[in-house]
Amino acid sequence: METPDLLEKVTNLAKRRGFIFPSAEIYGGFRSTYDYGPLGANMLRNIRQAWWQSMVQTRTDIVGIDAAILGPPAVWAASGHLATFTDPLVDCKKCKERWREDKIDGVCPNCGSTEFTEPRDFNLMFKTQAGPVEGEGATAYLRPETAQGMFTNFANVLATSRKKPPFGIAQIGKAFRNEITPQNFVFRTREFELMEMEYFVPPADADEWYRYWIQYRLDWYIDLGIPADQLRLHEHEAKDLSHYSRGTTDVEFAYPWGFDELEGIANRGDYDLTQHAKASGVSLDYFDQSTNERYTPYVIEPAVGATRLLIAFLLSAYHEDEIEGEIRTVLRLDWRLAPYQVAVLPLSKKPELEGVSREVLDILQPHFMCDYDVTQSIGRRYRRQDEVGTPFCITVDFDTLEDRAVTVRDRDTTEQVRVKIGDLLASLRERTNQH
Ligand code: ATP
Repeated sequence: METPDLLEKVTNLAKRRGFIFPSAEIYGGFRSTYDYGPLGANMLRNIRQAWWQSMVQTRTDIVGIDAAILGPPAVWAASGHLATFTDPLVDCKKCKERWREDKIDGVCPNCGSTEFTEPRDFNLMFKTQAGPVEGEGATAYLRPETAQGMFTNFANVLATSRKKPPFGIAQIGKAFRNEITPQNFVFRTREFELMEMEYFVPPADADEWYRYWIQYRLDWYIDLGIPADQLRLHEHEAKDLSHYSRGTTDVEFAYPWGFDELEGIANRGDYDLTQHAKASGVSLDYFDQSTNERYTPYVIEPAVGATRLLIAFLLSAYHEDEIEGEIRTVLRLDWRLAPYQVAVLPLSKKPELEGVSREVLDILQPHFMCDYDVTQSIGRRYRRQDEVGTPFCITVDFDTLEDRAVTVRDRDTTEQVRVKIGDLLASLRERTNQH
């Protein structure tokens, strides 16, 4: 498929089927801000859940937190964001459009001109007021990343969780950046959802852990169905590193516009804990009783946007194939990510079929996100489910009333098998490898 076409197709599908809507659309939309509809909200939940499961639930060395979005200037002064969280901004002298200098290679994407104003630093943080009184004391910032919540809570978590390095603190939550050029649908937006984990290690082990986390994160994408050839690692050169970083590697994905960042994994050294200890006067060292050593841990950070991931998973899953001479659109999403895992489809609207369909839903709904659709022909309904990636369609027909069995149709193979209602849950668990 022509690749620019792919972005358009996925963008259209996302809007048409209720994954993503332009925010405040009835008022004409609001500056590349998006709302997640019924399917998008389900899928985002699944992305968060898959990440949390891999980063927190299945590990004994990582705990989660949920920190505040609003923060005082002191945090952002210490972290370096007030001084350096900026993008270089230039204005095209011909068409007056404003751009990020590092993203345009000296040519205006709007009019082709190569004449620009001198770059100016533009701080990306959203500034607001907390409380009714104006003035410096009331200034607050919306967090541009969740990481600082992990650093400012480092001592709290150490004291309450009984963890010791190497250990991590993970968090999922909204972050805000006043991006100059939001673009490519939800790839870069001003409000987005971040999933970050700060892994605190003895300094001597930092490089080993850095390599470990790069591999662990790459494996996660492959496990969730992104083909390995659509992923690659890009290690930043020293001159391109952020102010805090001793090493950064991006996991890049083959977007329709080329390989671009999906996730960043950084070795942040002891920069953050040292800065916050200095600024707050509270020690953020770790004292290792077994060796009698005191040190400031280094931090390895994998950070990825859940909303950016959603578009990458959709792009990677989008396929068109031919079934019985007809082109169909199918999202080959891993079942863990699909907005609905199961669709229950009674063959007709007759009340008897509705009754037994409810029975099927009652069995499956505690375990799987289920859609229920009674309208249109069964073929049309299969297509609608294929298009949004539902792995299993369960058809309830008149035979069901006699044999207490339903038809289970597989999204990818379109194969259909008859399964007893009593065996349905076990059968779906087996097909999704949940034993
Ligand atoms: P860039 O240089 O592209 O602006 P960055 O390298 O500064 O981004 P990081 O601070 O490393 O980005 O952010 C970590 C992750 O957060 C990114 O890999 C991406 O998945 C996500 N992310 C960052 N900015 C945005 C955004 N504006 N919209 C959506 N996701 C974002």
